[in-house]
Amino acid sequence: MTRRWLFADQLGPHFGFGQDGVLLVESRAALGRRRYHRQKLHLVLSALRHRAAELGDAATYLRTDGYAAALAELGEPVRVYEPTSRSAMTFVERLAARGLVESIDPTPGFSLPRNEFEEWTNGRRRLRMEDFYRFQRERLHLLLEPDGSPVGGKWSFDADNREPPPKGAETLDVPAPYRPRESDIDAEVREDLDRWEHDGVLQTVGRDGPRLFPVTRREALAALDRFVTTRLGAFGPHEDAMLRGDWAMAHSLLSVPMNLGLLDPVEVADRAVQAHADGDAPLASVEGFVRQVVGWREYVWQLYWHFGPTYRRRNSMSAHAALPSWFDDLDADEVEAACLHDVLGGVRDRGWVHHIPRLMVLGGWAAERGYDPDALTEWFQTRFVDGYDWVMPANVVGMSQHADGGAMATKPYASGGAYIDRMSDYCGGCRYDPKVRVGEDACPFTAGYWAYLDRNADRLEGNHRMARPLQQRHRLRDLADAVAQEHDRGDAAP
Ligand code: SF4
Repeated sequence: MTRRWLFADQLGPHFGFGQDGVLLVESRAALGRRRYHRQKLHLVLSALRHRAAELGDAATYLRTDGYAAALAELGEPVRVYEPTSRSAMTFVERLAARGLVESIDPTPGFSLPRNEFEEWTNGRRRLRMEDFYRFQRERLHLLLEPDGSPVGGKWSFDADNREPPPKGAETLDVPAPYRPRESDIDAEVREDLDRWEHDGVLQTVGRDGPRLFPVTRREALAALDRFVTTRLGAFGPHEDAMLRGDWAMAHSLLSVPMNLGLLDPVEVADRAVQAHADGDAPLASVEGFVRQVVGWREYVWQLYWHFGPTYRRRNSMSAHAALPSWFDDLDADEVEAACLHDVLGGVRDRGWVHHIPRLMVLGGWAAERGYDPDALTEWFQTRFVDGYDWVMPANVVGMSQHADGGAMATKPYASGGAYIDRMSDYCGGCRYDPKVRVGEDACPFTAGYWAYLDRNADRLEGNHRMARPLQQRHRLRDLADAVAQEHDRGDAAP
């Protein structure tokens, strides 16, 4: 008999262990290694302890100061599934070389084994998410007609899913997301975290608050059910929209339980597809959700390994600014710009905002100010409750900062205040004006965008998708003033 050591993001039943029992390890050293959001540590600890309680005698639960100490205490070899970070992989490979890990098996946490992804990449000049997504749909038989063509006649309904928020609405008219009830285990976790913070064992960032995300399989299934039956239909059209009074919009909030390994991605996608087959959810919403789950999520997982350890340090825009303390510390009260104030406050209060505030507000802001992409990746990884080592590099270095020389996205996503104005209700209540580039009312996203283009003109030259904005900047009579003003802003909060 060889126990299966399950890591803190491998907690669902698809991470099987047969009759052999499970080792779960709570390492205070790992929790204190980085400055994580307080609610992220809570979720991870709570999930681990809940799983140990569920498994009862089948689990050996060790609380130690490190993983090596845990294995020494166990005193026998274990089997593992591939961990989700490069450092953890190196660690278990070293243990395997010493005979302490008997096997490193492919992870059931993602639908596609890594070697099959590498086969898929063979002979491809460019890796495109659309191609990978189509490959996944075909392979997993998701939203396909009997002849193999896509249901609805096309692979993506993205163009239907970019609507601004409904005019005049303060919230989307959808039922609230699933909200778990805290248990005695959560109370213990909170006490322990308070004590460790007090004793200086760990330092956290962000506010504590009631637990908002599932940490058990039962809770994760309830959250999936609530999303599919009450919110999925509204998800698609407004998935890119932002409202200051509605942090969740119609998003699934399932990234936390999925990244804790509580839900199998294929079961999640199947559930959404079934809702469409039953006539309970429109195709554009279901397709958009399926694309997130088996397309985008799996794509960034695969690219984490495919691009290798140096990817995270790519910096093709030569951005070297340090993250200012107000940003690093999530000090939203320092910020007057309505969009950034609300989004940074959302990260502080929940450790979660949806993909557009991440990409277009936080990512856009960071790109315009030239924040170092590696430091920014670390920031996203530790400040977000669903952030892990594998999640953020492609999202931040590739997508939001365009720091990988265009390996992932054909153009930078940075944009001025006009995009935020169109896709949110922020600008109406802001002291800045999204149309103004210079002066007291100048929107820092708009002025910042032109300053970004001006600073990076040489690097973006030759990118035909940027030719127009690069040309346009020559027509702005106040460009030099906008650039100078942005320069004077320095790293002050806007
Ligand atoms: Fe954000 Fe500019 Fe709009 Fe204010 S005016 S909310 S800073 S985009």
